[in-house]
Amino acid sequence: MTTDVMTTPAVLILLGPPGAGKGTQARMLEQDFGLVQLSTGDLLRAAVAQGTEAGRQAKAVMEAGALVSDEIVIAILRDRLAEPDCARGVILDGFPRTTVQAEALDALLAETGQKINAAISLEVEDAAMVERISGRFTCGSCGEGYHDSFKPPKVAGVCDKCGSTEMKRRADDNAETVASRLEAYHAQTAPLIAYYADKGVLKKIDAMGKIDGIAAEMSGIVRGVMD
Ligand code: AMP
Repeated sequence: MTTDVMTTPAVLILLGPPGAGKGTQARMLEQDFGLVQLSTGDLLRAAVAQGTEAGRQAKAVMEAGALVSDEIVIAILRDRLAEPDCARGVILDGFPRTTVQAEALDALLAETGQKINAAISLEVEDAAMVERISGRFTCGSCGEGYHDSFKPPKVAGVCDKCGSTEMKRRADDNAETVASRLEAYHAQTAPLIAYYADKGVLKKIDAMGKIDGIAAEMSGIVRGVMD
């Protein structure tokens, strides 16, 4: 719908441990609400692939399942947020992950007069995350996500969406690294749940169920917080 009244672009934050489904849900919200998914993990993987200075510094840290420095991540996010497509509104997937990043985001949004519409915490049990993460893969051509048990392609090895046979798995999606990533989540990111509760923007969602059911609940939340 087009209107001549300017609205402030929406800012949604997805919180949750690795494997909670942030990326999957962000892509669905992106399509349904015309928002832009900003994944700092994707931005960092692109920097590693391009061999930029930030990518060179981030590579070993990511492979170990630890968090990349706030300085690098905040700089990458700031640059991406300044691109014109973000004026449609953004879904932050995997950022912020530390209190320093959350405060930097508040400062960035204050500069542009934006506010956080909601921080949605995807609540899951640690025990299920290893299976979820070690079974996942994506289409190397269109980025559609799949899972060996929960969401296999209709024809093995062929993307349902674009027909490509180029499937890829992330280097850090293995059992050893997952343990470090969960540890980093609990030590450094979980405190943000209280941070956003204090600001009155926290929404919690049970993310142990089926993808579609969770997506329906997410859509209801997002509809309720859009200006
Ligand atoms: P993700 O794709 O969100 O699972 O992120 C993959 C890896 O990228 C993480 O394990 C971290 O090493 C790094 N990373 C992604 N986002 C951040 C962030 N906001 N802060 C620090 N490190 C991050």
